[in-house]
Amino acid sequence: MEIDKSKQYEIIVFPNQDEGLKAQRALVSKGVDFKHISTLAAVVPQECSQEACQAIIKENALISGYYPFLYRDYEEDFFKRAKEYRVSESNEEFLKSITLCYVAPCMADEKKIRLIGYFDRNITEILPYINAVIKGASYNKNASTLTYAKERRLINLYNIKVTIAKADDIVDAWIVLDEVKKLVNDTYRIRDTIKPNYEGKIKVTALQIYGWLPKTNCRACGEATCLAFAVRLLQREQKLSRCVPLSTEPKFAENQKIMKEIAAVLGI
Ligand code: SF4
Repeated sequence: MEIDKSKQYEIIVFPNQDEGLKAQRALVSKGVDFKHISTLAAVVPQECSQEACQAIIKENALISGYYPFLYRDYEEDFFKRAKEYRVSESNEEFLKSITLCYVAPCMADEKKIRLIGYFDRNITEILPYINAVIKGASYNKNASTLTYAKERRLINLYNIKVTIAKADDIVDAWIVLDEVKKLVNDTYRIRDTIKPNYEGKIKVTALQIYGWLPKTNCRACGEATCLAFAVRLLQREQKLSRCVPLSTEPKFAENQKIMKEIAAVLGI
């Protein structure tokens, strides 16, 4: 299937290559129009997405999720990056795989995606070591969670799963999941040389906070711009609740959740 820029499409994501191949075989056998972009993802016309998902599920293949495919943002670069992406193999490692189980658009920004990946084993014992390695991460011993920011993305590590908010697209998500796996395995390998850190601190810049604000510069908080609000929030001269759109508009619910987590950790 050729992509027609004037039409709307969805991208369907699969948890691993076996499921992706099974799903795409199901699409071929049912005659559903789709574009193979990788063994891990396929693009279907929006009007066929329900039919495609049903065909895949009937063949007992798994889907991680789907979200609108915004061709204008990706151009050919997206297809190239998706085609070139290879799942990293590490049978000798502590953490062998992260299975992508959930993908959906971010509620506040439909150009970004959020996702959940499950580890093939519990990483609770490694979290305080990762907390020592990543400067500015936030570790919660009781809840067994570690939170850190990677540019505008917010990454939460739990005992058996990782959640990522505001990934750019599915290729970005795959790369970040691979980075998480590498981080866990590298840290595990040298854990004897690391002093575990059980303290919870997070370092966030004003620009990162700005990325999670509505960016409308509406002035309802009393500041001239959202960036000014971000700076004053970090300086503890503003309160998160003063951002009216963030607190009241459903489309910013997810950003508000992220900001509340960060504000709780920072004590702002
Ligand atoms: S109220 Fe929120 S959206 Fe409006 S300017 Fe302040 S920070 Fe920005």
